[in-house]
Amino acid sequence: MQGNFITTKLNAMLGWARKFSLFHYPYVTACCGMEYMSAACAHFDIDRFGAGWTRFSPRQSDLLLVVGTISQKQAPILRTVYDQMTEPKWVIALGACAVSGGIYDNYAVVQGVDQVIPVDVYIPGCPPRPEMVLDGLLKLQEKIQQQKQDWRWQKRQP
Ligand code: SF4
Repeated sequence: MQGNFITTKLNAMLGWARKFSLFHYPYVTACCGMEYMSAACAHFDIDRFGAGWTRFSPRQSDLLLVVGTISQKQAPILRTVYDQMTEPKWVIALGACAVSGGIYDNYAVVQGVDQVIPVDVYIPGCPPRPEMVLDGLLKLQEKIQQQKQDWRWQKRQP
């Protein structure tokens, strides 16, 4: 009983720490990037939610933001970036193109990045407003808080 109490509290504490120390890697390819930049700048200030540090090295990141259209040629690169990130890691698909291919319903565009990598939160919109970006981030933080925190990191499969 005492052991369960400690494990539960430790799990909650780890979840709390992780959700407020997200280091995001913006994989920006198209116009949704403007809204991402707006969310990240002073007016909307993503830093208030503990996710203000942008990292441009996958090895230093635990949150992959896929922002914009992903072509079939880019898909293997996106997968490589994801694989290079250390566990635990999370993914947000930002905008209709990343979620489902958006208006580009054709052979050259990936019809949703979840065909390439696992996605935790989907943010719709063409483009989504910065408030929606922040709302998606809050949804991810809820998810991180509630999930079982792994001690030995296991690779997730798409
Ligand atoms: S969802 Fe709309 S705004 Fe965003 S990258 Fe696609 S076309 Fe551009």
